[in-house]
Amino acid sequence: DIDYLINVPLIKGHCQTGITCALKNLKGLIPDSEKRRFHTMGLHKPIAWLNAIIKQDLIIADGICPDPYFEEGGRPTSLNRILLGFDPVLMDCYAAQVLGYKPDEVKYIKLAQNEGIGSPLSDDSEIVNIYESIQPDETRIIQKDKKYLRIVDEADACSACYSNLVSALEKLNTSGITEKFADQICIGQAYRGYKGVIGIGNCTSCFERYLPGCPPQTEDIIRFLQEQSKNI
Ligand code: SF4
Repeated sequence: DIDYLINVPLIKGHCQTGITCALKNLKGLIPDSEKRRFHTMGLHKPIAWLNAIIKQDLIIADGICPDPYFEEGGRPTSLNRILLGFDPVLMDCYAAQVLGYKPDEVKYIKLAQNEGIGSPLSDDSEIVNIYESIQPDETRIIQKDKKYLRIVDEADACSACYSNLVSALEKLNTSGITEKFADQICIGQAYRGYKGVIGIGNCTSCFERYLPGCPPQTEDIIRFLQEQSKNI
């Protein structure tokens, strides 16, 4: 039983869901085995369903200096804000905007709204600025179209595995290697036992060519994909 739940999430980017804030942070309450199961279910729906079961009473979200693009935190950006609220859907809609997304681009927010967990941002939403900085806030986050992600077939991948692959592709993209791949690069627990061509991680061990690891490290993925690109 919980008498009163105070949720203290970070506002930041996430490689699979776009953002993470109040709704996704409740995943911290469940055991690791359940977290893995969430990934096998595609993350968005179980995040919404978890919030339908566990009600949060107060949210204090830290958006002081997040990485707006990635949960690893390698690109901290000064946004200088702390949000306090009661509605996790409204909070996440606001966080999505701050991080350069339209709220409807983050699937689990809409799913949570459909579950009756909260209300989206609208003209009627009450947002009060308690502290206005003397300096005008000119920071605008623009999410780039990550075209290189189109060569990835992700199916229920763990965050660490997927984020290592995204980091590797970001680095390889600058040298033009990602454009060479005709075959999709597969990653995720849903590929266990399935055949394919190029796979990342132990879950793709039945593929013709795969990189072992659980999760494989970014530098190993870079080396593996560089090697694969020579065979194309
Ligand atoms: S290889 Fe390991 S880390 Fe990667 S998706 Fe499979 S279980 Fe998750």
